[in-house]
Amino acid sequence: MRIDMVTLFPAMFLGPLQESILKRAQARGILTIFLHQLRDYAWDRHQMCDDRPYSGRVGMVMKPEPIFRAVRTILAGESAPVILLSPQGERFTQQRAMELAREPRLLFLCGHYEGVDERVREQLVTEELSIGDYVLTGGELAAMVVVDAVARFVPGVLGAANGAHDDSFATGLLEGPQYTRPPVFEGLAVPDILRSGDHAAIARWQREAALRRTWERRPDLLDQADLDEADKVYLRKLREALDRETK
Ligand code: SAM
Repeated sequence: MRIDMVTLFPAMFLGPLQESILKRAQARGILTIFLHQLRDYAWDRHQMCDDRPYSGRVGMVMKPEPIFRAVRTILAGESAPVILLSPQGERFTQQRAMELAREPRLLFLCGHYEGVDERVREQLVTEELSIGDYVLTGGELAAMVVVDAVARFVPGVLGAANGAHDDSFATGLLEGPQYTRPPVFEGLAVPDILRSGDHAAIARWQREAALRRTWERRPDLLDQADLDEADKVYLRKLREALDRETK
């Protein structure tokens, strides 16, 4: 996958891209990430990329010309999703990460100040993504979050073949608790079943633990999850147990 990042602050990406899984994916050629300094596409003397808003409101707005020039030059006639990071965009989800990972190429536009001139949204941007209902100082951190989540679904990026497909959200549920060695730590023991060697019983335990955790923390997810009869029976028992406790 090729990723182009258009930003006023390319250095903000250096730390996250030079560590761990994303570093390895780039070294192995699975992921190629280009950081483009937007100012290089502003051809006036001062390389201005922002200006005062016509509304007279406070703050600055990112000018359209450098952004249009940057996107057109970088794509050079090729088509690719042009993603603007914006608190007004569609909420980014694991599902969207999975879909974007199928694209061979993505271009991200990072806003700053009060955001970008509306003509950029209208003419260049193919989708706007928000990472949550809060406002950041710029799109760089948001873009990094999206790239990190998308990269996990690009084949070969994660070590285990199916690593990302068992995670929270990918299965429609939150993942259940995880344990590793030692078997007892400060008097707290790993559940016996996980050390029993009975793979079917372990799988059922994990499924029920995931159901329970989702029911406790994100019951809204259960409406969309793919549940079989055994799952429904288990959830019914959980609800009945709660009813008994509250009576
Ligand atoms: N005035 C804008 C508004 O109210 O919608 C907010 C501008 S914000 C200070 C500057 C930039 O940060 C935005 O253009 C966007 O690129 C990025 N940004 C801020 N919050 C974000 C979020 N929740 N998700 C994605 N990008 C965000």
